[in-house]
Amino acid sequence: MITLIKNTKVYSPAYLGECDVLISGGRIAAIDNNIQVPHEQYVNVVDGKGQYLIPGFVDTLVHITGGGGEGGFNTRTPELDLFDAIKAGVTTMIGALGTDASTRLLGDLYGKAKALSADGLSCYMYTGSYEVPVKTLMDSVRDDMIFIDPVIGVGEVAIADSRGSQPSVAELARIAADARVGGMLSGKTGVVMIHVGDGEDKLSLLHQVCEQYEVSATQFYPTHINRNRDLLSAGVEFAKLGGYLDLTASTNEYLMAAGDVRASEALDYLLRQGVPGNQITFSSDAQGSLPNFDAKGELHGLDVGLISSLHEELVRSVKQYDIEFSTALACITENPARITGLYQKGKIKVGCDADLCLLNANTLDIESVMTAGNWLLKDGVVTAKTKFIERAES
Ligand code: ZN
Repeated sequence: MITLIKNTKVYSPAYLGECDVLISGGRIAAIDNNIQVPHEQYVNVVDGKGQYLIPGFVDTLVHITGGGGEGGFNTRTPELDLFDAIKAGVTTMIGALGTDASTRLLGDLYGKAKALSADGLSCYMYTGSYEVPVKTLMDSVRDDMIFIDPVIGVGEVAIADSRGSQPSVAELARIAADARVGGMLSGKTGVVMIHVGDGEDKLSLLHQVCEQYEVSATQFYPTHINRNRDLLSAGVEFAKLGGYLDLTASTNEYLMAAGDVRASEALDYLLRQGVPGNQITFSSDAQGSLPNFDAKGELHGLDVGLISSLHEELVRSVKQYDIEFSTALACITENPARITGLYQKGKIKVGCDADLCLLNANTLDIESVMTAGNWLLKDGVVTAKTKFIERAES
């Protein structure tokens, strides 16, 4: 099916003006003023007046098979629902295990990633978990990178956290080197997503690896940098090496009372500190557990991270912190796609995948979502179908 979206304000994420976008063969075929098509009966024409056309969101940390479990087995969180991702405008995601790589397995992560992809999204995965030595599907990080297509990196390896394996500088250097070489041989960037805890060490392990070994700061992709203000300012120093900073969008009132800074506020801070916008991303950390501790440190239950937090923090960045729309949008589209080597994603550009969202230009609400030229959400109504729904309807 060929689709022509007319009269829409296009953010690529850079603003391209009000124009028409032609979609064919699952890709963006043309971006121009007043595109005319000769045989309109073969073209699905959509009027995008009053809407922003933007790339679908790229979420680089989602616990697609569930996470948590840190308060016992009954605190394991549920897996991601496809329809939650669609309604949240997320069209590309990277799945990860977390603390638990014993009852949560990489084979399950692979299966869920393939299932989400078969249902219309683009889903990739990190091999490994918080743990070091890294658990892999094949014999090594390199082999996982080379032989397993959805594996595009390693993670989230935990540092500065009591829940991690307390890796040494040499161990972390080895993981980064294996991810890089595996990535070189398979045409991937091979990033190592680093879960940064609230330990005093902050990012010092990453600095030591870069100083002592032939490893570039850009091989690492540290997340949860907005966990507290001290870690945020440590992030500014890491960014000076060219390093990337990922801010976690999902939070709750308990975490914020304990020092968590909203991703939107953290973005505002980092930009004011002179960190280049193209080194900053947001991820949702969806389906991860958000523990509710009281002032005495007693656990009073859990929330589950939401994939919709990505869009919420985009809106908050613009409406509450006055950050330019295209700058905030790049943090959940072009930047994460580039950092993880998904060059067909996160951009509205001729030849790129037609993974798109239409937003209401006033409210910034998500009204329609498309992947590979097919609508999964149209004018607020979910049009995506899974095998289960098809069977129920027939
Ligand atoms: Zn984490």
